[in-house]
Amino acid sequence: MSSWKVRYSYLPQQFGNPDPILDELRRFVPTGDFTLGKPLAQFEQSFAKLIGGKHAIGVNSGTDALKLPLRAVGVWHGDEVITAANTFIATVGAIAELGARPVFVDVDDTFCMDVRQVEAKITPRTKAILPVHLTGTMTDMAALMPIAQKYDLPVVEDACQSILTAVDGKRAGLWGAAAGYSLHPLKNLNVWGDSGIIVTNHDDMDHKLRLLRNHGLRTRDEVEMLGYNSRMDSIQAIVGNWLIGQAEAITHKRIANAKYYDDGLRGVRGIRFPVRSPRLQQVYHLYIVFAERRDELYKFLHAEGVEAKIHYPIPLYAQEGLRQFGYRLGDFPVTDRHAREIISFPADQHLTVEQMDYVVDRVKAFYARG
Ligand SMILES: *Cc1c(COP(=O)(O)O)cnc(C)c1O
Repeated sequence: MSSWKVRYSYLPQQFGNPDPILDELRRFVPTGDFTLGKPLAQFEQSFAKLIGGKHAIGVNSGTDALKLPLRAVGVWHGDEVITAANTFIATVGAIAELGARPVFVDVDDTFCMDVRQVEAKITPRTKAILPVHLTGTMTDMAALMPIAQKYDLPVVEDACQSILTAVDGKRAGLWGAAAGYSLHPLKNLNVWGDSGIIVTNHDDMDHKLRLLRNHGLRTRDEVEMLGYNSRMDSIQAIVGNWLIGQAEAITHKRIANAKYYDDGLRGVRGIRFPVRSPRLQQVYHLYIVFAERRDELYKFLHAEGVEAKIHYPIPLYAQEGLRQFGYRLGDFPVTDRHAREIISFPADQHLTVEQMDYVVDRVKAFYARG
């Protein structure tokens, strides 16, 4: 076990008693129903119901949960897809795997794309817009959708960090043509490996996505279109079926924890909060604040046993592996500032009040030292 007083990963607790899942697996394995079987159909139904969408399609990762909808709306080699400059690499991976180019828009202090900058980025090659609902908050979809409609551009939402996020009661993932979610072990609703799921309200999209994830096979013998091998495994669906009933409770606990931190840190000189809005239900996949002398605070907290993190220390657009797209450090000033100022505290559903008190106390101690 680690020596952290406040550890970041809660997976040992999340799956601390795996017996109900293992019992189910023991019953399931002799059925041989390993791909596209009953457990997956059940999980898809439950997930669609959870989000409030018409269809859900299980795929093999959050990355593919973005790539397949982009492919379904026609994104292909040489096209441009507008997305946020600050996101996890998987967003860009999904675009690049199709041979398309990510066209970045800077973010604002919500951590999502600054929608006011989108229109200027649209060119004749633009094929889709991929807003990223980073950290568990949400892009200003009410402002983005009219722009997309004006230029007749499909919108695919990256909701990988935002299961159950909503604004004015309308969920993230229900605004565009489709939305991708990740079930990776580090996400709010997590399984025992890689999986992703797509939600869409559109029947034609659902039809295409079911083909795309299974080699384009219409029947065992007929290929309707070229597709991928991107099925969510029955075994992961069984884990998902066990967990999904807890999704609302997990979400509410994370929201309560974030409020507890906000209350504890409010007024601490050196700490500034990102945008909070009473209209928005943020689900705090990441609990992030802006911190003065961030690197010093980070080191101090680690020395004090608090496993703080930085999501993400290097702006994605400026990463070495993305050099081919021609962006340079300095192109997106808000993203750059975030990389210098952000710090994430553990805020998961398994934390104790004592642990959160300790984090707040140590942050206060750091700034009191001057
Ligand atoms: C996790 C994540 C993804 C998808 O990641 P997978 O590891 O493929 O499930 C995509 N976008 C964002 C913003 C993510 O955080």
